[in-house]
Amino acid sequence: MFSYWQKSVWFQKTDVAIIGSGIVGLSAAIHLKIKNPALKVTLFEKGFLPAGGTSKNAGFATFGSISEISDDLSHHNSEAVFSLANNRIRGLYALRNLLSDNLIRYEASGGYEIFKTEEEYSFYSEKIVEINTLFEEYTGLKNVYSIPDENADYFGFNNTAGLIFNQYEGLLNSGNLIKALLEKARSFGVEIFNGFELSRFESDSNGVDLFFKTPDVQIQSSKLLLCTNGFTGQILSGLDVNPARGLVLVTSPIENLKLKGGFHHNKGYDYFREIDGRVLLGGGRNLDIEGETTTEESINPQIHSYLVSLLREVILPDSPFTIEYEWTGVMGVGKTKKPIVENIQPHVFCAVRMGGMGVALGTLTGAEAADLILSRN
Ligand SMILES: Cc1cc2nc3c(=O)[nH]c(=O)nc-3n(C[C@H](O)[C@H](O)[C@H](O)COP(=O)(O)OP(=O)(O)OC[C@H]3O[C@@H](n4cnc5c(N)ncnc54)[C@H](O)[C@@H]3O)c2cc1C
Repeated sequence: MFSYWQKSVWFQKTDVAIIGSGIVGLSAAIHLKIKNPALKVTLFEKGFLPAGGTSKNAGFATFGSISEISDDLSHHNSEAVFSLANNRIRGLYALRNLLSDNLIRYEASGGYEIFKTEEEYSFYSEKIVEINTLFEEYTGLKNVYSIPDENADYFGFNNTAGLIFNQYEGLLNSGNLIKALLEKARSFGVEIFNGFELSRFESDSNGVDLFFKTPDVQIQSSKLLLCTNGFTGQILSGLDVNPARGLVLVTSPIENLKLKGGFHHNKGYDYFREIDGRVLLGGGRNLDIEGETTTEESINPQIHSYLVSLLREVILPDSPFTIEYEWTGVMGVGKTKKPIVENIQPHVFCAVRMGGMGVALGTLTGAEAADLILSRN
């Protein structure tokens, strides 16, 4: 319940209420203010810090490893696969332009996919020319994938048949990224409230009433934009977006760690990189897709032990380590990998389903949602 003073200063009817302060919600808020500075844009986030995938991810600035693109091509036509890849590439440029490489600690490190068997390695090596040709045709990027010079020593990996390099991939610091986005949004006059969890909303011709679970208050807005990604099903049914939980581990500092770049394994399900002299490793969700279709913050022991084995047997076979950090985060996935940016009810919009590459897609998806809102009365 608000006092008169609280209500009159902070919670008068807003022009656009955005739910969720991840990369999509913050990018949408910034783009709304860039296009129309007079607009009152208010963002509500349930966590005391942003609590979704944006602050829990691995910091890969990627548009796909060769086995992911190849797998996508076996399910969808080239036009669909490369138009999404193109949006990821454009999204990464848009993100870097909006915030600067220095602020988000972007490194143009390149990325590798590692293959454990000769059979897999030769299968994907033979696809390099075909997929590079399609990439160039659809996106203009030349020679995306190649066999790297460093192949001879494999960064000290064990049980590895070979690597395929993506020269355009990069890494960034996800903590710096979300902090920079929050600061940018505030600098444009976006009001951001943490600890506000939306439970439901009602829309009519005058706008939208928002009902929050915590705190127990009601707020009015002319328009509502849901940027709740994998949590969307808790507020709204009927959209093809489901939670997909991901586990991340960070080791103790490793002496003489050789890793440089982002590394993918198993069609993108597993991924690892160096951060401050440690190994950050995530993945294994494919081992229990059903169990990981959840927003619960708990660790699946089967996946945890798979990731630790990957560290011991492949990534750090000769280095002792302990696990010093572990956490889970929630992605939003559906039958296809294309984000849903739609006007779902009168005055209500959504920009959700970022899949596993929301860092690449988020900035443009937020901008697209902002344009859609501005195009409707
Ligand atoms: C473990 C993991 C690793 C990943 N690694 C990478 C990677 O390396 N590279 C990459 O490109 N992508 C990666 N991703 C995916 C990427 O992080 C997401 O696609 C992206 O962050 C989605 O951004 P978003 O803004 O749509 O959603 P989110 O960042 O999830 O933001 C949604 C926000 O909505 C809030 N919210 C939800 N419900 C409510 C409510 N009812 N009321 C108020 N607030 C609410 C949440 O707290 C959250 O802050 C990873 C994801 C995970 C989980």
